[in-house]
Amino acid sequence: MSPASRVAVCRTGHLVTRSASDARYNTSFCLNCGTEVIRACPACGAPLLDPTPHLALSRNVPNFCHGCGRPFPWTREDAMIGKILEAIDNDPSLDDGQRLELKEQIRNSREEGLDANQQASLWKKVKEGVPQRIWDFTVPILQAILTAEAKKRLGLPP
Ligand SMILES: [Zn+2]
Ligand SMILES: [Zn+2]
Repeated sequence: MSPASRVAVCRTGHLVTRSASDARYNTSFCLNCGTEVIRACPACGAPLLDPTPHLALSRNVPNFCHGCGRPFPWTREDAMIGKILEAIDNDPSLDDGQRLELKEQIRNSREEGLDANQQASLWKKVKEGVPQRIWDFTVPILQAILTAEAKKRLGLPP
């Protein structure tokens, strides 16, 4: 891994630098918003990588850790949900009817005003319907977006 592909990002999601050889790489706090600058995944310690190293003027930051699949503090919920929907769309073991049903459950789980029980039961159906491969990376996403109560009911670690 070349040091140039490592990025430093603040907790809000501002790109601080795209290069580990840049002095700004070791900045402690973001000049824009004052939040802590991180260079590695808070969960597993894998370095943050530039998602588009081939684009010279890119300001993109990674949304998911390449080491553990978890979303980062700045990753937007729609990006997290999009990743799950995309995986369902591209999974050859699901037929069209199953895909529609799973996506419907995920859409319903995003509606406002659901209690922990309703959320947990929708995600439980998703868990039963998707291949293990998809569920494996859905878990860290749910850990980031669900309430403690919904996670408990779903049997997820907090
Ligand atoms: Zn910032
Ligand atoms: Zn990680």
